[in-house]
Amino acid sequence: MNLRFYPIDLQLKHTFTISRGSRDVVPVVMTEIEHEGIIGYGEASPSTRYNETSESVMAFLGKVDLAQFEDPMNLDKILRYIESVELGNSSAKASIDIALHDWIGKKMNLPLWKWWGLDKEKAPVTSFTIGIDTLAGIEQKVNEAAYFPILKIKLGGPNDEEIVKRIRELTGKILRVDANEGWKTKEEACDKILWLERHGVECVEQPLPASDLEGTSWLREQVSIPIIADESVVNSSDINKLQYVFDGINIKLMKCGGLREAMRMIFAAKILGMKIMMGCMIESSVAISAAAQLSPLIDYADLDGNVLTSNDPFLGMRVNDGKIILDDHPGIGVVKAF
Ligand code: MG
Repeated sequence: MNLRFYPIDLQLKHTFTISRGSRDVVPVVMTEIEHEGIIGYGEASPSTRYNETSESVMAFLGKVDLAQFEDPMNLDKILRYIESVELGNSSAKASIDIALHDWIGKKMNLPLWKWWGLDKEKAPVTSFTIGIDTLAGIEQKVNEAAYFPILKIKLGGPNDEEIVKRIRELTGKILRVDANEGWKTKEEACDKILWLERHGVECVEQPLPASDLEGTSWLREQVSIPIIADESVVNSSDINKLQYVFDGINIKLMKCGGLREAMRMIFAAKILGMKIMMGCMIESSVAISAAAQLSPLIDYADLDGNVLTSNDPFLGMRVNDGKIILDDHPGIGVVKAF
């Protein structure tokens, strides 16, 4: 079994701003696992929020020796080894997990959703993300999102109310809000969320810093709409302590280490009665299409990272009026675009 990897820069259509900062280019690392003439594709989109960079991903992948394994079907054994190489590095690990799953699906000539026996009709509508911007920029992005019936608005900056008011003037679509830990006190978050409720916002993601579980638990008692954990939940080991703090969790392949762990998180959250969102980093169609394979199991999809880029090297997940379409292409369902 042969692992190859190479870095690429994903160019963004617009500068993307959240409460932590702005970006025009996102460095990612693409992986390929080749065995018996079949190539499985994977991708790592590292985030400095979780202590990774494209350099750290490349360094981690350089330490991985897959030649010792005879068969990609030995997923558990291979992923246990990957886990043992070094702590952390979850996006680098996800890039291998995704490539292995893609290889297995291609070998069986089945899309992953079919291999897992999921109901493709249950694939949800994905939201389209609108980063923090000037009012003119916001208006342009709302127009570009014409085919998406749900908008996810990034807040946590100085002009939150102004942004929401402008969007509400432009559209009556379902709105979700992501503060990315941007509100600094529980009182500020409470005032903002009560105001957002009156403007028809459906749910709020990560209002307070990840470690402020006490503040978030208080906040949840004061408001009616669901509060979803993102930065507070990395993998399945975090979920138990969040049961009475958040209403749901946002699972991302790049945080948790891949599809195998994402599936564990989905079932853990379901057992605890928590809602499930699947989100993404800025990433190409490879990682987005991989996450989409699990989407029949989730409540909210935020799988639009590829739509925000202008040089996606792959074609994969399609949407129809925002609804995720799961088709019969094997594995994660991607082909090279050029
Ligand atoms: Mg988020």
